[in-house]
Formats: sequence, C-alpha cells, structure tokens
Amino acid sequence: MSSLFDKYAPLQTRVDMMMKIGQDALGVQFDDILDATRGRIGNREILLAGTNNYLGLTFDEDCMKAAQKAVESHGTGTTGSRVANGSYAEHIDLEKALADHLGMPSCIVFTTGYQTNLAAIAGLAGDKDVIFMDADAHACIIDGTRLTGASTIRFRHNSPEDLDKRLKRRGEIEGGNALVVIEGMYSMFGDIAPVDEFVDVTHRHGGYLYIDEAHSYGVFGPTGCGIAEEQGVLDKIDFISGTFSKSLASVGGFCASRHKEFEITRKIMRPYMFTASATPSNIAAARAAVEKVKAGGHLRSNLKERAQQLHAGLKEMGYDLCADASPVIAVRRPNEAVAAMEWNWLIENGVYVNLAVPPGTPQSSSLLRISLSAAHTEENINAILKAFGELKSAQGEMMQNMAAKLA
Ligand code: PMP
Repeated sequence: MSSLFDKYAPLQTRVDMMMKIGQDALGVQFDDILDATRGRIGNREILLAGTNNYLGLTFDEDCMKAAQKAVESHGTGTTGSRVANGSYAEHIDLEKALADHLGMPSCIVFTTGYQTNLAAIAGLAGDKDVIFMDADAHACIIDGTRLTGASTIRFRHNSPEDLDKRLKRRGEIEGGNALVVIEGMYSMFGDIAPVDEFVDVTHRHGGYLYIDEAHSYGVFGPTGCGIAEEQGVLDKIDFISGTFSKSLASVGGFCASRHKEFEITRKIMRPYMFTASATPSNIAAARAAVEKVKAGGHLRSNLKERAQQLHAGLKEMGYDLCADASPVIAVRRPNEAVAAMEWNWLIENGVYVNLAVPPGTPQSSSLLRISLSAAHTEENINAILKAFGELKSAQGEMMQNMAAKLA
C-alpha cells in the first residue's frame, strides 16, 4: 500500500544528503540570541549575517520598551480577528503612522507579511482581472494569485520591456483591469527593480502597480519609504506592501494605497478576516520602529557603507556575486552540495549566512546569501571577509571530506 508520504521520497533523499554533509539547513536551532548581530549555536558564538535585520532594531531600547509596555497594558495576544475583537487603537494608530509616512490615504495592517500579499493580491484581483507578475516573485505573491479567479501572466524578471509587450498583447482587458506586481529589492539576489520604468509602462496601459517593499522599506529612500521613494515615484505607486519582520524588527505586515477605496477590501480579504490580529507587543514594537525608520538616515548610510565594503571585498577574492552592492549579497556556488558544505563550514567557523537552493531561488542557483544590518561594524564585515577568504583555502580539504561523507 502506498503511504501519504511516498511523494516526499526525493525530498527525503535531499535532506539525507544535507545531513551527511552537516546539519539540516531548514532546521537550524539558535540556542541564544545575544544582540542584533550575535547568536549562539551550541557553545559557539556566531556572527549573524543572514537575518534580514536590516536596521538592527531587534534590540533597540525604545522598541523593546514599547513591546514590554504593550504586554503589561494589553496582554500577550488579541485572541481575535481584525474584523471581530482584534482591532485595538494601536493597530489603527500604526496604520495611520504608516499611511502618513508613505503619504497615502489608506493603509491596512495584517498579522504577517506573508498574509499581507496573500490578502491584498487576492482582495484586489477579481475573476475578470489579469495579474502580471515578475518571474522571480516571492512565494506569497504567487500564493496570493492562487487565491483569486484572475488569470496570471509572468513577465521577464525586472524587464519593463517584456511587461510592455505582454500588456500590449493583452490589449484591453474585457471587463477587468491589469494588476502588475513587482518587488523593490528582490530577496534572493538583492537586485533592485527599475520601479520608475514599471510605473510608466503600467500606467500607459491603464494598469495598477503593486510593489512589495518587504526588503526595501526602511532600507532605501531619503526617509526610508523604499525603492519607490528612492527613485522619486512614491506618489505614483498604487499599492505598497511591506512587512514588520525585517527593518521593523517585529512580526506583521501592511499594505498602503493611494486609492482610499482600498479600505473596502477589509470586508472581503480572507487572510485578514479569518486569522487573529497581530499581538499588542508586535504592533507596539513596529510602531516604535517606524519612528526609527523615519529618523534612520544614519542607519541607512551605515548599511550602505557596509554593503559596499563586503561587496568589494568578496569581488576582489573572485567570488561570483549575483547583483551590485545592496544589503543582500548573494554568492553563487556551483551546486547544492558544495553550497551546503560551505554553509556548514561557515557556521563551524562562526558565521551564519543563509543557504538558498532550488526551487526557492532564481535561475535554479545555489547561493550563500548574506543579509547585512546597520548594526554590523566595519570589523564585523572584515570577519565575514576573513571567513570567506579562509573558505577558499579550505576548499581542497572540504572536497575530500564531502566525498568521504557522501560515499
Ligand atoms: N515578501 C517578500 C519579498 C519576502 O521575502 C517575505 C519573507 N521573507 C515576505 C513578503 C513575507 O514576510 P513575513 O516573513 O514577514 O511574513
């Protein structure tokens, strides 16, 4: 008789290979987190270089105090949805603060960033609409399109020209609208969308532009609003989504719009209505972090400097980097086994980065993905560079070990 789990046999083989080489990359346990840049695995202190903690605010005193105070005054959870008992004055206040920051009349706060895209994309696109989505779209954008009856068309990654062609081919969308979905900075390669060009193409065809700034809100733009602000087109974006789990150092998400009619979707978005709202402490920490973002020019310039330092250093060593310098620096490796072995070696040598392998990566690439923080110092970057330098010299021995382990 077959088992429910038979279909996972190929996956089990991959996991077994990982375990032979070292530890399960999808199951790392941190035994302690010391601050925004240091953790502990077992007895080893680890430099954190793969946490999306872009502004380093997870241990910011004001954000921590705000979260502590919220627990004391409003408890540990809301025990209800935004459309029932789970909308507190603080949820609404955070929506207002984000709307003001982005200069938009409407903003809706969700329980996670994942649910934000799920809810908003499915809430915006109806059966007659067409979603045009970047080829490298994040899983939650893809999943959002699956919750709608809208048809979905993918265009070439970061290519306004390809989008233009596809919108032209589609012509007038009978009885419906076009919703174009892109990201600001892409999470795997750290490459940046030409948002200004996407605005032109989308609006020329009468479509709506939706941009996920999960990795760019707080990180780019003079006041931290993201790539759209950096490229001078913030006021032309129809919908901006973001998460609290990266630069805002909390958990939750938001979607803002220059269309005040967006508010009506609160009444139909399933991942907004049928889940508990974000906890008081998550909301309070994010609210305090928004103020840090607005005043965070020094954090953004430190982050930029560190990114340039690391990018230049890795390039000089001959590493194949996936994009220009940005807070995400992805080092391309020849295959999954080599990447896994190197990733383990880096942890054993005190540096945590992300191991990113297909199918979650663009171009089926195997990556050592580094994400930097404004809390990283010049010395931290030197330590990462030192580890990557030694990794090169350890290559021969590592290959022999891998062959023995996989034999
Ligand atoms: N959008 C993008 C582009 C992401 O990379 C992620 C998560 N890494 C999300 C949305 C979801 O955010 P969260 O983890 O806060 O749910």
